[in-house]
Parts: sequence; structure tokens; C-alpha cells
Amino acid sequence: MESASRDIGTALAEQLLPLSPNAAAVEADRCLYCYDAPCTHACPTHIDIPRFIKKIATRNLRGSAETIFSANLLGATCSRVCPVQELCEGACVLGSDHKPIAIGRLQRYAMDYARANRVYPTVKAAPTGRSIAVIGAGPAGLSCAGQLALLGHAVTIFEKRENPGGLSTYGIIALREPVEVALEEARMIQSLGVAIRTGVEFGRDITLSALQQSFDAVVLSIGLGHTPALGIPGEDVLIDGLEFIEASKTGSTHLHVGRSVLVIGAGNTAVDCATIARRLGAEHVTMVYRRTDREMTCYEHEYDFARMEGIEFRFLTQPARVLLDNNAPVGLECLRVELGAPDASGRPAPVAVAGSEFVLPADQIIKAIGQEKPALAASLGLATQKGFIAVDANFQTSIAGLYAIGDCIRSTGAASTVMAVEDGKLAAAAIHQQLVQQTASVQVS
Ligand SMILES: Cc1cc2nc3c(=O)[nH]c(=O)nc-3n(C[C@H](O)[C@H](O)[C@H](O)COP(=O)(O)OP(=O)(O)OC[C@H]3O[C@@H](n4cnc5c(N)ncnc54)[C@H](O)[C@@H]3O)c2cc1C
Ligand code: SF4
Repeated sequence: MESASRDIGTALAEQLLPLSPNAAAVEADRCLYCYDAPCTHACPTHIDIPRFIKKIATRNLRGSAETIFSANLLGATCSRVCPVQELCEGACVLGSDHKPIAIGRLQRYAMDYARANRVYPTVKAAPTGRSIAVIGAGPAGLSCAGQLALLGHAVTIFEKRENPGGLSTYGIIALREPVEVALEEARMIQSLGVAIRTGVEFGRDITLSALQQSFDAVVLSIGLGHTPALGIPGEDVLIDGLEFIEASKTGSTHLHVGRSVLVIGAGNTAVDCATIARRLGAEHVTMVYRRTDREMTCYEHEYDFARMEGIEFRFLTQPARVLLDNNAPVGLECLRVELGAPDASGRPAPVAVAGSEFVLPADQIIKAIGQEKPALAASLGLATQKGFIAVDANFQTSIAGLYAIGDCIRSTGAASTVMAVEDGKLAAAAIHQQLVQQTASVQVS
């Protein structure tokens, strides 16, 4: 198999350049500073968008960053990865007749300033003497831990990987977010007093009962699992899409890219894999999907982007068998699909047409069909909803004092970084409230 023919750093360098001070000022001046601004309503963390933009317009970048942090501690990541077309910019009143304000890029401008000048939120609350363990240092865990620290609690995050950041570090394509941005954000959370212990796996190195003895509350922010199995012959030689993206982010020397690449799946992860393969020199990249472009789960702008990158699509196509030569893939045997009545997902069920086999040639096949549900739910005996951890309105699981946030609870709607960040913020407030009440009832009795 061919190795990546282009330098990874260059091919996958951050796609959008930072705004210049002049461009940022011009863009900020276009904002109408709407009353009851729809952009703020559309932001899942409800950043006061006109306020932070106004502060950019008046050259108060510190104030702008502080406005963002007051609603969202992970504003740097969100400014890069949020699907702004669907959220704040999609709601901007200027969108219908003019161009919406480039809210994401202005937020990044303020966050880049904060990073360069170490403008971090400051802890004002007195220490409460209460401690919380957070499992997983992805966006949900970092957000929750940071908010709890701001409220005066002692927080320790246990993270199984070598680095914090979760999918921001290991999963989101570098074109959108370089690794260093995610790592710096985790350092900022540490600066609030949060301890991050990496290389510690919950369930292997530490148990729930041990944590319950040392901490007042435990939060699971463990994300989701590996790529599930397709269950087709020859599956062993397929490349795992999440591992493929991770190799491209961590500069792994094991990243190989074929000449003719098939990507199975049609979500954002699949688009990311196809983009990496294309940018690293694959001549043909084709995404293979069982349904049509109407049912694809990737964002519309991602689909447009993929087509601009020269990525092709084979819809209504179901993989049936990997064709091998000397244990290396040479093609994917597929079946034609017709769409039937809606299935449990609410989308038309793909029905393979018997006898419709055909072969798509390929020397590399990547599987990017989502992530497995959190396995810890079953091992801890937690109540679940569609395989995700079930929580109440306060993010508490079926075990008292054990909370869960982020992708591991997202049983409805598309998972996204900003929703994980908001979960972390809301869960921190709920845990704080619960601990305050406990303290008050102990004092009364
Ligand atoms: C390829 C890909 C691209 C994406 N692109 C975007 C995008 O462009 N925009 C967007 O908004 N969203 C995107 N998402 C979704 C987004 O990344 C997630 O919604 C977000 O990261 C969820 O945060 P989280 O903290 O819940 O989980 P994660 O980011 O998955 O973090 C979970 C953390 O928990 C750790 N962990 C797990 N189990 C244990 C254990 N037993 N002990 C200790 N630690 C543990 C993991 O190592 C990880 O660090 C993408 C997802 C993928 C897979
Ligand atoms: S909706 Fe658009 S114009 Fe109005 S405050 Fe938000 S960004 Fe500014």
C-alpha cells in the first residue's frame, strides 16, 4: 500500500486563516447588535454574541474573551468546530438578505487573543471543601470540571488516554481544529485548579466504589466507543475511520493512504476520512452509503465541501464482502439497495436487492459508520435509553451521586462538541446545587 504522498502537516493545516485585526473590526462593525439576539438563542451555550462582538468592535479583546468564557469555557474549540451554519450564523438576521456575520471566526479571533495573552477565567469562589471526580477529559468533562472549579470545588479528572481533549484532540480533523488548540484549552482548565490524571482508565485502574469513598460526586463523561462491526466477510482488513483520523492528527508514521479509497458511511466522520485520504494523495475517493443524499447524517455544508474536494458518492449501495488478494483489499462487493418503509431511526429502511451484486475496486477501504454505545453502562448496571446512559433533569444516572454528560447520554439528536460543553456547564450547576443542599441539611441536623 502507498504511504501518504503529501506532507500531513501541510495537507491538513487549519483550513480557515485567522482574521486580521482590520478584517475583524470591519466584520464586527457589520453586526446590528440585535435586541434579544436570535444568534444567542441559537447557540446551545447561549453566548452573548452581540456583546462579545461589540467588544471586538471597541478593541476590548479581553472583555470579548471574558464574555465568551462566562457562557462557554471551551470557546476556542467551539469557534472552530461548531456547525455555525446550522446554529448562530444560521439564525443571524443578516443571513436572509446579506451575508450572516462570521460569528465563528470572530469568536476564534477573541479566543486566539485569549490564548496568546493568557486571558483565563479566574476562580472567585471560596473553596467549598467538596470534591468531584470526572471520568474523561473530552469537551463535556473539561467543561464540567472547569465550571465546578469556578464554583470552589476540588476537581480531579481521570482520563485513560495520554492526552486530554477527547475527540477534539484525537477525532476532529486537523483542518478544523489543530491538536494544540485542544491541548491548550485543557491547560486553561488546569489553570483553574483542576487536576487531570491521564493514563488512568476507569473500570480498569479505578473503580466506582473507590471513587465514591474519596469524592462527593462522580461524573461520567466517557464519550462513545469504537467503530462498530459491519459483519461482512473480509472485515478484518478494513481501516477503522476513527483510528485513521487519529493517525492524521497525531502525525503517526503508520498513516497509509491508498490510490483508490472507499469510505463506508455518510456521517461527518466519513466525510473527514474521505477528505484526509483525498488531501493526502488518493486519486479516487468514493463514499459508499446505503441510503441517498437526503438521509445522509453529515451536515449539508460538509457534503458540499466533500464534493468540492472531488470526493465521489455511491448511494443506495450496501457493502457485502471485501475482495482480497494476498490478504490486501482489491475491491468491495456490494448490493444495490431500494428504500423501504421507515425503520426505528425514522429513515427509510435500506433493502438489499437479491442478485444485484457489483464490485467497486479499491486498494484501501475505511469504515466510518459511527461509534458503539458506552459499554460502561452495562458493566455498572446503569439504566439506559437506546443504549445511551439514561439521566434525569439534573444529569444524575440511576445510581445516586453518579452523573453522566456528553455523547454518552446523547440518545436523541446529533452529538456535537457545543452540546457536550453545555451539558458540562448545566451538570456542574446541578451538582453544585445538590452539594450545597446536602451541606445545609447537615448543618440543620
Ligand atoms: C470524527 C469526528 C468528527 C467530529 N467533528 C465534529 C465537529 O466538527 N463539530 C462538532 O461539534 N462535533 C464533532 N464531533 C462530535 C464531538 O467530537 C463530540 O460530540 C464531543 O467530542 C463529545 O464530547 P465528550 O466529552 O462527550 O466525549 P469525547 O470527546 O469522546 O471524550 C470522552 C473522553 O473520555 C475518555 N474516556 C472514555 N472512557 C474512559 C474510561 N473508562 N476512563 C477514563 N477516561 C475515559 C476518552 O478517552 C475521552 O478523552 C465529531 C466526532 C467525531 C467522531
Ligand atoms: S443576529 Fe447577526 S446581526 Fe444580530 S446580533 Fe447576532 S450576529 Fe449581530
